[in-house]
Amino acid sequence: MSQSTIDSDTLDSAEADAFRARCRAFLDQHATGIAINGPDPRSDQAVAQSRAFQMKLAEAGLAGLTYPAEYGGQGLTKAHERIWREEYADYPDMTGQLTISHGMCLPMLAEYGTHEQKSAFLAKNISAEHLWCQMFSEPGAGSDVASLQTRAVLDGEEWTINGQKVWTTLAHKCDYGILIARTDPDQPKHRGISMFIVDMKAPGVEIRPINQIDGGIHFNEIFFTDLRIPASWRVGDLNDGWRLATAMLMYERVAIGTGSTSGIKTPNYKWWGDEARRRGRTTDPVVRQFLMRLYSEEATKSLVALRTRAEMKAGKTPGPGGSLGKLHGAKITTLIRSFALEMVGPDTMAWDDTGTDLSGPTEGSRFSTEGSKWAKAAIGSFSANIAGGSDEIQKNIIGDRVLGLPREPSVDKDVAFRDLRTSST
Ligand SMILES: Cc1cc2nc3c(=O)[nH]c(=O)nc-3n(C[C@H](O)[C@H](O)[C@H](O)COP(=O)(O)OP(=O)(O)OC[C@H]3O[C@@H](n4cnc5c(N)ncnc54)[C@H](O)[C@@H]3O)c2cc1C
Repeated sequence: MSQSTIDSDTLDSAEADAFRARCRAFLDQHATGIAINGPDPRSDQAVAQSRAFQMKLAEAGLAGLTYPAEYGGQGLTKAHERIWREEYADYPDMTGQLTISHGMCLPMLAEYGTHEQKSAFLAKNISAEHLWCQMFSEPGAGSDVASLQTRAVLDGEEWTINGQKVWTTLAHKCDYGILIARTDPDQPKHRGISMFIVDMKAPGVEIRPINQIDGGIHFNEIFFTDLRIPASWRVGDLNDGWRLATAMLMYERVAIGTGSTSGIKTPNYKWWGDEARRRGRTTDPVVRQFLMRLYSEEATKSLVALRTRAEMKAGKTPGPGGSLGKLHGAKITTLIRSFALEMVGPDTMAWDDTGTDLSGPTEGSRFSTEGSKWAKAAIGSFSANIAGGSDEIQKNIIGDRVLGLPREPSVDKDVAFRDLRTSST
């Protein structure tokens, strides 16, 4: 039976029960949580644990459930995927470090890649043998990413790439990446862009990790100097990269905003409820009010996520509605930050510059390690309002494309890119 003819309705209850039991048995054994040592939640160890989990998933025949078997997936139905998400929701998330590789690069390659590209790259992406990153943002092109300056010029059977990207999450640990670059500066800025696959280890790619204020190294600057890539590594049509980039950003917002699980989930409410109990604060009316607000926000976010997932299940590419989940997630993070600082108090100011153990007090530490955990979490939480498109940009998208409000004026829509004054020219 071909992938498209398998429908969720064809999965009878005995099959569904058997598959559910299989997922649960796997998760019982392998979803034991990611132990993070060190100040960086995306430490080598955390990434290695995510990869190891995914590789076991692939060995067990449970990775890439709905992707075709010829490309390393399992060729199963969306009903299988839904069952997996429902079961996975009850366990610690083991694959958070694979969000870009699996939540964004994988569906893009599967949807827009050629047969040759899918044959070459999908299986090792699905099994996490290869990690992938997203190279969109540049120093002068973040919210307005169509102002990008990185150039791709066709030279015989290869493209030559020159330019710079920035904020590229996990590039220093990745094998491949998806890049957007300008291929025709004579066209208006949105029309002269194409999408490419890049080998992150190739000569001409220089990756410089960025040290963050919280002690972590999550993202990087990338410099391309005469990087050569095969002509066949262009994804989609020439100069159609903006349409593909927009599709990838929608996948990104869904991946960030709906997560990898399914059903009504209130993980932060549960976590903070336990923390309030641990601190003896459950009778405090301010704490109780926060917990109920958090519960309502998380439950509402789950309901919106269910609708987004249902649209995807019905075969739709994620649309601008993904911005709702992304924005809501960022708002919840802001709510938690202000509450955490209030409940934890002065501990959040204490900074453990040894920063070696987030799981408990460190003997001989100058400061409270408990405090360093909260301080780092509070500092890091601001990224939720920026990564994947800032809150303001999500509001613009929701206004323009979900609510149908008048669009912002765009004076440069029809001007050739080479005649534009952008923030990086
Ligand atoms: C943790 C993290 C991880 C990231 N990972 C990646 C990655 O893997 N790959 C990648 O390509 N990029 C990545 N980024 C970059 C991210 O996409 C950009 O930071 C983001 O799109 C904002 O762009 P900018 O930083 O250039 O800010 P700017 O675009 O300069 O925005 C500055 C401020 O102006 C506001 N603003 C801008 N335009 C408008 C407008 N039209 N209307 C209203 N307000 C506006 C913004 O909301 C913001 O507050 C990451 C960022 C973070 C924080």
